[in-house]
Amino acid sequence: MENIIVQKYGGSSVGSIDRIKNVAKQVVKAKYSNNKVVVVVSAMGNTTNELIEKAMNVNKNPSSREMDMLLSTGEQMSISLLAMAIQELNEEVVSLNGYQCKILTDDKHKKARIMDIDSTRIKKELEQGKIVIVAGFQGVSQSNDITTLGRGGSDTTAVALASVLNASKCEIYTDVDGVYTSDPRIIKGAKLLDRISYDEMLELASLGAKVLHPRCVELARKYRIPLVVKSSFNNKCKGTEIMEANNVEKVLIRGVSLDESIAKVSILEVPDEPGISYKLFNELSNNNIQVDMIIQNINRENINDISFTVKTEDLKDVQTISSELKNKINAKDLVIDKSVSKISIVGTGIAGNSNVASIFFKSLYELGVNIQMISTSEIKISCIIDNKKGREALQYVNQKFKLCGECYILEEKVV
Ligand code: ASP
Ligand code: MG
Repeated sequence: MENIIVQKYGGSSVGSIDRIKNVAKQVVKAKYSNNKVVVVVSAMGNTTNELIEKAMNVNKNPSSREMDMLLSTGEQMSISLLAMAIQELNEEVVSLNGYQCKILTDDKHKKARIMDIDSTRIKKELEQGKIVIVAGFQGVSQSNDITTLGRGGSDTTAVALASVLNASKCEIYTDVDGVYTSDPRIIKGAKLLDRISYDEMLELASLGAKVLHPRCVELARKYRIPLVVKSSFNNKCKGTEIMEANNVEKVLIRGVSLDESIAKVSILEVPDEPGISYKLFNELSNNNIQVDMIIQNINRENINDISFTVKTEDLKDVQTISSELKNKINAKDLVIDKSVSKISIVGTGIAGNSNVASIFFKSLYELGVNIQMISTSEIKISCIIDNKKGREALQYVNQKFKLCGECYILEEKVV
């Protein structure tokens, strides 16, 4: 099959009728550059939030299955409207929801993972010369129920499709010019990156850089899908390419991110015996709950405290699971602290330079910020801090590493 490209348009890019018409033109243009085009769209603007609010007004604790049934309608609205806008331009087009495309997922509602996609229908439509519009963020479980992939999941739909269709690239259109060294809405002078490696992007995405759904970067890395993030409003800007590390200039620090949507969960006075952590984290993982930092302290004989961080969106489920387990394992207390944020530095140079950690910690010290938890990997250092200090710390750490303002690439030394 000739050159297939997958384009994904986020909620703000299809946020109004005019914007949908604009996207329709862009899509048709892509087709005329000799491509077979598959387009994934998110729900219009704030639709998903509005649907959640509606649900909450009916039932504070709705079942996840019914939530997915509701939330999937947002994308169904935008695919049909975009298809109509393309028909208005006299082009052949078909819109398909997750069920029709056979985007098969597991049965973990609200955060399902794609298991397989049967691309037969999409390929048939492309062969007939049609543009294919696919609803992002949704799939269908083995038991034929509608599932959704977690907030921001349309990015993942796009990359998964790019992979099964063997697409030459996947373009993610959004409302920012690309990936920055730090959130440009908070950090003045944050720099747009031309290129970033999959690994660095994965860290930044999962650390709360909010540009891409982390699972989408994971899939792109696994199947080596060239990914481009660019603005649907500013076609002068080339955006950011996400690719293999050896094609990206090496830097000490690529970016600094702040994740404000996390919570710290502590289970206090847990018996110190084999199997306790297993029971807890196995239960969380069975529910597709992503746990981030984990710390276990021994505070006196045979008794531990276990703390870990989770996304605030998972907090309700985490609370239920942890409090059940707390009782089962005879722990004394369960404490949930929502007043925390995670600040992280990311870059391929971190592992080889011990100076970096000390500069990072010193910056927090100079601001009088107490570090509650620390975690490190080859290319990242993260600290859990008081969320009231988060933005100030983000600003300061950016300055310290000279990531904003004049120079941002630091080859060797940092002062
Ligand atoms: N509409 C969904 C959301 O708002 C999925 C997406 O936009 O990617 O999270
Ligand atoms: Mg998004």
